Amino acid sequence: MIRFEDVTKEYPDGTRAVNRLNLTVNRGEFVCLIGPSGCGKTTTLKMVNRLVEPTSGRIYVDGKDVMHQDPVRLRRSIAYVIQQIGLFPHMTIAENIALVPRLLGWDAERRRRRVDELLALVDLDPEVYRNRYPRELSGGQQQRVGVLRALAAEPDLILMDEPFGALDPITRESLQDELKKLQARLHKTILFVTHDMDEALKLADRIVLMKDGEIVQDGSPEDLLRSP
Ligand code: ADP
Ligand code: ADP
Repeated sequence: MIRFEDVTKEYPDGTRAVNRLNLTVNRGEFVCLIGPSGCGKTTTLKMVNRLVEPTSGRIYVDGKDVMHQDPVRLRRSIAYVIQQIGLFPHMTIAENIALVPRLLGWDAERRRRRVDELLALVDLDPEVYRNRYPRELSGGQQQRVGVLRALAAEPDLILMDEPFGALDPITRESLQDELKKLQARLHKTILFVTHDMDEALKLADRIVLMKDGEIVQDGSPEDLLRSP
């Protein structure tokens, strides 16, 4: 689903954030990219949807070189969830969730069905929540809606960058549980950045450990726990 071939990213100031990275993420896999702050996780993730362009090397999504694709179309087909989800305050929850489907031309009835189905999936009663505005929701509920917005157009690939980092531990744990359940049902491919090993162990099928822009370990959570 994603293939990095010898990818290097050097920022204009000379910082080499990612150094000759090779990584393949298979369809349906839940991969956590983990490592200390500054090791290149976010840069790696952002190169997949071209928010950052590599200095050298190639990145393929579904066999196609991302640099040969239109960035706007690419970003509509790949979900992207970050810590500051930024729901649009002037739009209702339903409008926020249905944003990308609307851009893709889904008709109103199909959008409405999708919104209700997604809200129900995370135990937010559609009758209660679809016409509310983001400010009327708690932080945890807003982050839930942010995840739903990313899933709305049924992307095959989801990029997540510390999506639950700003939440209190209890809310974080319940969202982790929900994400794991969604993944089990929907079989999406997820590349998930975190610096929290407990989170990675809980969520991932596979954990990729980075240090100084390079991969230093790549294996199942069990492998990682066994290693010194
Ligand atoms: P992580 O997500 O693991 O914290 P990042 O990918 O954000 O790591 O950063 C990797 C390195 O690249 C760090 O040294 C960081 O300071 C640097 N970096 C990130 N973004 C930029 C930028 N826009 N310009 C210059 N250096 C950057
Ligand atoms: P426009 O054609 O109006 O410029 P964009 O494609 O730029 O629309 O998207 C409008 C808004 O929707 C942007 O703020 C963008 O961040 C958000 N958006 C676009 N694609 C996605 C996606 N796949 N997941 C989540 N938000 C998205």
